[in-house]
Amino acid sequence: MSEINLSVEAAKGYVAQIDDVKLYIDGSFVEAESQEQFDNINPYTNERINAVASGGKADIEKAAKAARKAFNGEWGSMSQNERLGYVNKIADLIDEHVEELAPLEAHDTGLPISITKKMVSRASKNFRFYAEMVSSRMVGDAYQVDDEFLNYTIHKPVGIAGLITPWNAPFMLETWKIAPALATGNTVILKPAEWSPLTANKLAEIIDQAELPDGVFNVVHGYGEKAGAALVSHEDVELISFTGETSTGSEIMRNGADSLKRFSMELGGKSPIIVFDDADLDRALDACTWGIFSFNGERCTANSRLYIHEDVAEDFIKALKDRVDNIRVGDPLSDDTQVGPLIHTAHYENVSRYLQVAKEEGCEVYQGNVPEAMRNGNFIPPTLLLNADHSMRVVKEEIFGPVLAVMTFKDEAEVIELANDVRYGLAGYVWTKDIQRGHRVSQSVNAGMLWINSQNVRDLRTPFGGSKHSGIGREGGYYAFEFYTEMQVVHVALGDHRIPQFGKK
Ligand code: NAD
Repeated sequence: MSEINLSVEAAKGYVAQIDDVKLYIDGSFVEAESQEQFDNINPYTNERINAVASGGKADIEKAAKAARKAFNGEWGSMSQNERLGYVNKIADLIDEHVEELAPLEAHDTGLPISITKKMVSRASKNFRFYAEMVSSRMVGDAYQVDDEFLNYTIHKPVGIAGLITPWNAPFMLETWKIAPALATGNTVILKPAEWSPLTANKLAEIIDQAELPDGVFNVVHGYGEKAGAALVSHEDVELISFTGETSTGSEIMRNGADSLKRFSMELGGKSPIIVFDDADLDRALDACTWGIFSFNGERCTANSRLYIHEDVAEDFIKALKDRVDNIRVGDPLSDDTQVGPLIHTAHYENVSRYLQVAKEEGCEVYQGNVPEAMRNGNFIPPTLLLNADHSMRVVKEEIFGPVLAVMTFKDEAEVIELANDVRYGLAGYVWTKDIQRGHRVSQSVNAGMLWINSQNVRDLRTPFGGSKHSGIGREGGYYAFEFYTEMQVVHVALGDHRIPQFGKK
């Protein structure tokens, strides 16, 4: 998919009139059984956008019945080729709607449109990628046992996949889960985040147009504690792929224990960026600034802890302050906005509390500017927490806003220890021209994903996920097959091997 060309006027046109959002169950758009709705709020103005059907246990029950029927029926018995045809059709239809999706996502989440354009234009790739991966890489192994046996493995779909997603990159993360779940042959119930329902609803419309058999794909909007919890505890839902906060992940695992759910957990992070004195400091500055302030700081892999070598710290921090002073904070629908408002007033208050804690803990809080005209939005200016150290909560806890804790270090051993001194282990970034040190330090950081001399550039084929409290399991590439499929081994006797003859006279 190429770049989206979209004027601000056209973008505003797409969000001028937005209908209420319904649930999508068994091929139809329906109200919640309870008839309850909740308001969806624009983070830039804090005005109501629309009403969203608030799903609960009864709706999850309906969706699970429909998903089971489709799995046991048409979808389950369809050839792989035909199934992947549907997956590719979804990709084509996403491309047709991509202009509309970018402003919807920016309007709903406060993410700058420059970011949402990139994210939504990559979503169709998720579907095409998994259609291709399933046809070319979803392969089994064969085990010859002398001339007695040939044993082989196959991948089978698991059943009903429950997908629970956060609000920080909604469309990208939803498609990132739906694509492998459908391509491998499961049926899906998606529970999108309640603060960002718009593009999930658009996706339901797109998938409806693709004419998948009824019940293959379902969306139940609603609150986590109601719709999400009902999905997690449902006896007939086999797996839960969850992306969100670490504490929610623990609760979901507890609630899914009775029904023995299979879990994939993509959780929080507090990722370090380590900049040595021999690094290309200009590029490291670009990467560090982008890595924490893009996505409004609401990025799971954000480099929220900077460790800058003490010999170059003074100049680097001065340059960082200069960047912070000049980052363009503004309307998410404007092309030149770099940082927009946070998703919701509740999250804004959360991040504001952390800034208060930072002051109490002894940080110098250095902030950029928010234009006066933006006062109605949930804006936190780009923020540096200077003089931070590891005795502070603001260094150890995920803030999930445009807030960078800045620390210095003396040597490699010290910085490795500091980098690992948090409960999270999602990502890490190392900047140095010494390639041996680059590898050595990266391999010593206890995290799922490391980048050397690079910002967060993703490769869909590689395993995505975190260690420690940042997650369990890996998504991405063929690693997703481990989660979304059941591996079966078939043992075939090639001859008449000896069988004990119990009880034979
Ligand atoms: P969250 O945990 O509050 O919510 C995520 C989803 O879980 C939402 O759909 C919510 O409704 C649902 N939910 C909440 N309680 C539930 C319950 N009891 N049972 C079932 N579902 C429930 O997270 P968030 O605030 O939406 O997202 C931000 C978090 O997500 C951050 O911690 C961020 O680091 C993390 N994240 C991680 C990754 C990753 O790949 N590791 C990617 C993006 C975001």
